[in-house]
This record gives sequence, C-alpha cells and structure tokens, in this order.
Amino acid sequence: MSESSPLLMIPGPIEISPGVRAAFGAKPPGHLAPGLIEAFGDSLRMMRQVWKAGPDSRPFVLAGGGTVAMEMAAANFVSPGERALVVNTGYFSTRMAEMLRRYGVDVAEVGAAVGNAPTPDDVRRAFEPGIRALFATHVDTSTGVRIDPEPFTALAREHDALSLFDGVCATAAERFEMDVWGADVYLTGSQKAIGLPAGLALLVASPAALEARRTRRGLPPPMYVDLDSWAPIMDAYEEGRPSYFSTPATNLVLALRAGLEEILEGGIDARITVHERAASAMRAAWEALGLQPVPVRGELIANTLSALCYPEGVDASLVGKIAARGVIVAGGLHPEIRETYFRVGHMGYAATREDMLTRTVEAVGGGLRDAGVEVDLTAAVEALPIR
Ligand SMILES: *Cc1c(COP(=O)(O)O)cnc(C)c1O
Repeated sequence: MSESSPLLMIPGPIEISPGVRAAFGAKPPGHLAPGLIEAFGDSLRMMRQVWKAGPDSRPFVLAGGGTVAMEMAAANFVSPGERALVVNTGYFSTRMAEMLRRYGVDVAEVGAAVGNAPTPDDVRRAFEPGIRALFATHVDTSTGVRIDPEPFTALAREHDALSLFDGVCATAAERFEMDVWGADVYLTGSQKAIGLPAGLALLVASPAALEARRTRRGLPPPMYVDLDSWAPIMDAYEEGRPSYFSTPATNLVLALRAGLEEILEGGIDARITVHERAASAMRAAWEALGLQPVPVRGELIANTLSALCYPEGVDASLVGKIAARGVIVAGGLHPEIRETYFRVGHMGYAATREDMLTRTVEAVGGGLRDAGVEVDLTAAVEALPIR
C-alpha cells in the first residue's frame, strides 16, 4: 500500500494485511481444485479456534455478507410462530428483529436509550415464558456499544432457549467463549475484524442449534441459506472431499485461510489483547482531543470501533475534512442520532499497526482544527502509544 492512498478506517470494510491480499490475488481456482478444498477445510477447523467453539460445533462459510449470516440465523433456528427475544442495542439489532418477523417469528424486544444497553436484569424481566431464542448484537456498529454476552447465554440456558449473537463487528477482536459460555450461534462477515475483503458470511452453530434446525417446523428455509443443504458440503470440505451445492467464493476462501492463520499466529487471546490495547490507546487520544464517546459508560465501549460525538459547532462535514487528510472514517448510522456523531474503525490489521492508528488520530485532530476547533494534537498523539 502506498502512503499516499487513503487509509480505510471505517467499521468495515477495513485495511487488509499484505498476506491476505496476496492470498486473495491468487489465480482463481476451480471449486473442486484440491488446493481450494484444503483451504476450505483448514478454514473451518480454524474457525472453531477463533470462535472458541467446541469440537462438535459446526462452522459454515457461504458467499454473502454479514446480512446473509444474519439471514442464516433467522431462517434456521426458530420456527414460524415461535417466540424470540431481541436485545436491541441499535441499527443491526433492529434489522435482526425485522428479519425474524419476516419468517413469522413472534418477536419481543428489550432495548435501552441510544448509547446504552439493557442490563441482564432487564433481559431477565423480558424473558417471558415460551421464548425459544435470544438474539443479541455483540458490538452494535451504529453506536459502538458492546454487550457482555456471557450473562445472556446463562439467561437463555435458564429458560431453555438458544442464544444467538451477531458478531459482525466483534468476532476475532472481542472476547467470546462460545463453548465455555454455551452460546449457540456466533456469526460474522469477512470484511470486519476477520480482516478480508467483503463477501463471506461466517457462522458457527452449536449442537443444540443444529438440533433446532432439524426439528424446525413450517416451510423449509430459503434454499440458499438452508443449513441442512450446506452441512454435507461443509463435512466434505473438512474431510478433504470435493462436493457441490452452490459455488463458493473461491478466492475469498483462500484469503480466509490466510486471515485466520494470521489471527491465530499468537493465539486468539493474544489477538484480542492487541485489540484491547489499540482501543484503549485510541480512547486516550480521543480524550486528549476532547471527543466524547456515544456509549454512555466505559464498559460499553467496543474495542473494534469508536463512535464519537461531534464537538460544539462541528457537523457531519468533519468526515470530509478528515478524508481530505487521507483517512476515511464513517458518518453516523443510528437514525436517532445520525447527524451528531462519526465512527472510526480500529480492528483487524490496523489494530496491529501503530503507524496507521497514529495517522488516523492526526487526521481526525487536523480535521477538527480545519473545522475551527482548538485541539492539542501533540497531546493526542502522545497519548496514543500502545503499551
Ligand atoms: C456490518 C454489520 C452487519 C451487516 O454486514 P453486511 O456485510 O454489511 O451485510 C451486521 N451486523 C453488524 C453488527 C455489523 O457491524
């Protein structure tokens, strides 16, 4: 990457590593090529490690995006007419609730003010009899709010319900113990913290979730997202056999193996620590610039992105001023506060690159200056070093 090309610091797609880019740029293999089958099988095995999933869990990789992974969750694990509870922390939780309703699921929601999240007690109160599944967003990309999934998995088990988590802006960057916590589904898309170009839907299902698919009533799920159609294909890849249901995104699968290998280089725990450190360094820099986070309490602030309120007198034109300094950040997404904040991604490869984080802080500080805000850029950059 040349230093003059703009740095992509939005909450996905993100900067990708040279190794992932090289794997992605390979001559496209056929979908039955031995090298592709091997890369697919390796990727499925590594997903269990990154997800911290049990050996009897089942990973799925489909061509699609994060929304396709959400569709897989909505279509397979609850039956039409059954009740589900959605923990709503923003834009993507609202999407999940709407998606479930389109499958005829009877959806209850438990929410909180923008920038906040329901507590486990709130969720317990909302857990009415008959609720078969709890859905929550690990990190809501529209607000930068992160929940702690563990108490929600416990509540779901207590109520004999499944727990399903949208990890699209979290997986491989935030702590998640699928097996230990007994979570049933954890899903993501390739362009967030997994660190690939966009185009893959990734999901791991627990044995209880797979059983729920087997006993699901009503019309079968749409064919492309029916995990019963895909399970034998994933089996074949893990066993190194060719098979076909729908052509996989071959080069993305090559990139996936490279990306997961990089994530697991020092182990998944170390990779999460890298994100924690990068995020706390960024928080220190934002504080030095006088920027306030959208999440209302420290423990709700995600490690993967910063959602930051515009200071007095600054509007959405700040995003363009930052871009003019060579760093692409994102505007607001949550409909209630869209014009009042912006978002900076710091996940995946960029979290390992202090120079990229520094360039980002400099561009945001410079953009604020261009918008007429007096800022101490030196203090912000000095606050940044990753310890
Ligand atoms: C990005 C994102 C999605 C949607 O992913 P797409 O690939 O854009 O379809 C869903 N949920 C969360 C939490 C996200 O951050």
